[in-house]
Amino acid sequence: MAPSSPTAGVVSFEEARHIVEEHARLVSPGEPETSDLLSSMGRVVAETIPADRDSPPFARAARDGYAVRAADVAQVPARLEMIGEIKAGEVPDTLGVKAGQAAAIMTGAPLPAGADAVVMVEYTAQSGTAVEIQRSVKAGENFVPRGSEAGAGQVLLERGTRLDHAGIALAASAGKAQIEVFRKPRVAVLATGDEIVEIDQRPGPAQIRNSNTYSLAAQVQRAGGEPALLPIAPDETRRLRELIEEGLKFDLLLLAGGVSMGKYDLVEQVLSELHAEIYFTGAQIQPGKPIVFGRCAPGRAGMPAPNKYFFGLPGNPVSTMVTFELFVQAMIAALAGARPEALIFPRARLKSDVRTKTGLKRFLPAMLSGEYENAEVELARWQGSGDIAALTAANCWLVVPPDREMIAAGEWVSVMMR
Ligand code: AMP
Ligand code: MG
Repeated sequence: MAPSSPTAGVVSFEEARHIVEEHARLVSPGEPETSDLLSSMGRVVAETIPADRDSPPFARAARDGYAVRAADVAQVPARLEMIGEIKAGEVPDTLGVKAGQAAAIMTGAPLPAGADAVVMVEYTAQSGTAVEIQRSVKAGENFVPRGSEAGAGQVLLERGTRLDHAGIALAASAGKAQIEVFRKPRVAVLATGDEIVEIDQRPGPAQIRNSNTYSLAAQVQRAGGEPALLPIAPDETRRLRELIEEGLKFDLLLLAGGVSMGKYDLVEQVLSELHAEIYFTGAQIQPGKPIVFGRCAPGRAGMPAPNKYFFGLPGNPVSTMVTFELFVQAMIAALAGARPEALIFPRARLKSDVRTKTGLKRFLPAMLSGEYENAEVELARWQGSGDIAALTAANCWLVVPPDREMIAAGEWVSVMMR
């Protein structure tokens, strides 16, 4: 589906997310590069990895016990002749198990020819060269047939899979000590504001240290990108424009601040001067309403260059962080080569009443607690979008639909994990 035409308006949360997802489907990841298997944790696989042989490569005993012919133990107790022992890693005797016989077998060992089931050792008693079987088994019980997990050549890992520990184990099982992964997208982070100073400077009485560049860079890293920290842009068009042009050389540009309605919120103005396509200038959410999403060509007039996506995130630190989770993460994942994933809000039981104003979908700092199946959530105490300390005490966002004024304790509510 083609992405929506530029709307340049304030849209619902779902529409904003949908627009970002549509554009994310259009982006191409960077070049593949070779990585050591373990260093590829969290990276996105750039090759298709087939099974190099059947898995399991032999009929594998799933229990310690005796390999038998099920027909021999239909009536129990049954007395069978012990013909030997098969340890994990051993190739069984080619003679195999004949009628009236059994072979001791260990978990992970290949099932001998002739046997069609394993009786667990718990249901047997060995005396000398005979073994008494006390419980019947059906053919096929307690072993894993050859190739039942994957046949040789079958795809184990698809290109576009983000590697977690299970993916790493799968690649390891196919003998991939080295793996092709996509280059991490380079994401420029540009904080704006005359009041913002670098963290190694002493702030004046009306100045604020630049925390957004750092939260964003950390979120970029976690999302699988490589952050590039640009200098702080003042609320002045010429320098702001220079730094935006610098940022557009990267795979993605994140701006923080300067997107609200104030006289010195110049980000949109400068982007318009650069002929950016703007897909939305706000989403019906709180915090984070003034978020801007668009695309812009970094090259000068007459020099065609690929269009680069950008997000203008609101400068309030909590807004910056939540809008990253809601929108930016999906674009970075796409630029990293990952297949698109829906945003899912799992549910928990609300611990105490919540009252909000209607009209905007709210993502409020909250604490998920409880244990095991009894997840409970309650709002964190917070002083508004600037309150970073409240966020460190929170571990999720409570998602409040725009039409709910009051949600009572005990109701099931949605949360967004972070
Ligand atoms: P703005 O979106 O530019 O209107 O900024 C909203 C609020 O966020 C203001 O109180 C700013 O001082 C604050 N803010 C903006 N940028 C940053 C930053 N990089 N680090 C910390 N606070 C910021
Ligand atoms: Mg500002």
